[in-house]
Amino acid sequence: MNKVDLVVIGGGAGGYQSAIKATRLGLKAVLVEKDKLGGVCLNKGCIPTKALIATVERLHYIQKAREFGIQVKDYSFDFSAIMERKDRIIRRLSSNLEQLMQINKVRVVKGEAQIIEPGEIEVTDPAGKREIIFTKNTIIATGSKTMRLPISGVDLEGVITSEQALSLDNLPSKLIVIGGGVIGIEFANIFNALGVEVTMLEMLPRILLSVDEEIAFRLAQLLRRRGIEILTNCKVKGIKEDNQRLEVLVSVAEEERKLESEKVLLAVGRIPDIGNLNVQKLGIELEEKAIKVNKKMETNITGIYAVGDVVGKIMLAHVASREGIVAVENISGKKVKMDYRVVPNCVFSIPEVASVGLTEEEARRENSNIKVSKFPFRYNSKALIMGETEGMIKIIANGDSLKLLGMHIIGIHASDLIAEGALALSLGATVREILNTIHAHPTLAEIIANVAEGLSES
Ligand code: FAD
Repeated sequence: MNKVDLVVIGGGAGGYQSAIKATRLGLKAVLVEKDKLGGVCLNKGCIPTKALIATVERLHYIQKAREFGIQVKDYSFDFSAIMERKDRIIRRLSSNLEQLMQINKVRVVKGEAQIIEPGEIEVTDPAGKREIIFTKNTIIATGSKTMRLPISGVDLEGVITSEQALSLDNLPSKLIVIGGGVIGIEFANIFNALGVEVTMLEMLPRILLSVDEEIAFRLAQLLRRRGIEILTNCKVKGIKEDNQRLEVLVSVAEEERKLESEKVLLAVGRIPDIGNLNVQKLGIELEEKAIKVNKKMETNITGIYAVGDVVGKIMLAHVASREGIVAVENISGKKVKMDYRVVPNCVFSIPEVASVGLTEEEARRENSNIKVSKFPFRYNSKALIMGETEGMIKIIANGDSLKLLGMHIIGIHASDLIAEGALALSLGATVREILNTIHAHPTLAEIIANVAEGLSES
């Protein structure tokens, strides 16, 4: 019997990285994908949303042009051209990914996989033809799907998921976004910048629960200033269709209200997708609908690993990729553990938000002896030159050792700046070591040195 070393089920960020890593380590790997290579991130997530955000950033620059002495007399945009550019980027990256698979000698099989038993994978191709692949190891990387709210009206035509929002033909006049998490905020930004009236509904007392409270509060202020209505403590009771408009029944601080909208976007989170894999029959342990794995990313069944959104830890593409690498290294005989302590988390809003490590609230809960320093963008020369003075960087350090515990940024290019915080945190650096690193002038990165300076003499 011809056995491969590894079958990876799912060609998203977790799956394709696993397959590439495996062949680079000399393993014979097959990647099975039932839909499009690249998964959610490339086709319906990270890439299309960021392509649209790049467009609305250009609109933002046009609106600020006068400050730079440029008169833009008239401008307009073409929504279908904006969407076409997004699709072009996806096509280009898909083709790059296919080439990457060829270069790395990964056999890609199109079809839906089912685990018949450990080591035996059945793949049904789009024409219904079946193939059995025997393997020493399997990685499940089947990702996640949009969570539906258990309320009436979620199946109405105008109630859309993030995937549908990315393929609209026309802009709605009004959009209600249910959910004040990362995905909800990114879409609220995009549609607001394109002239759509946007209301965001969040059940909790604040948006972006996973982000440092002060930073999330600043972002909410800035989004409101740009015209996005944000209702917190807002529970959605149901959705009705009324005269071709959607009526969303909510209770805000115990008071019932009816909100009208053309479209309603569901952005309340995602749940692991274990689909028709046969997980229950095989006895693979689950943990709150996600596949349970140990630190080696292995399930309770020897030789079956799981990575990415399907394990439900931190649903981000770079986490899925890292988990894939950890799983493959363990399969190849190394002993590696997945570490979630240093995971940068970015919100691609205008301005951006990015964080790594502990929030101030988490650090206070874990250790009463912490020190906090903040520095605003408005004192930084590059931010002033760019006309982007909104925002700040905040760091949290251990009160004795001054070891960095967390970095939180709101401001332009936050998603790039956070890389320095992630590196410092993973190396266990102190704020003095950050300060002793020469930062080029004039750059936004100097704000990191400034914020470190705030603690270095303490
Ligand atoms: P997926 O990308 O979901 O891939 C799973 C693949 O498995 C799919 O292609 C699916 O077709 C395939 N599959 C499923 N079952 C089978 C089967 N039985 N047989 C064969 N194939 C199967 N993350 C970030 O880090 N940065 C961002 O900016 C970001 N933006 C996002 C924006 C949106 C709107 C969304 C929805 C998500 C975003 N994410 C972002 C999250 C990111 O997309 C996911 O964390 C990432 O895609 C997870 O990768 P994965 O490999 O676990 O799964």
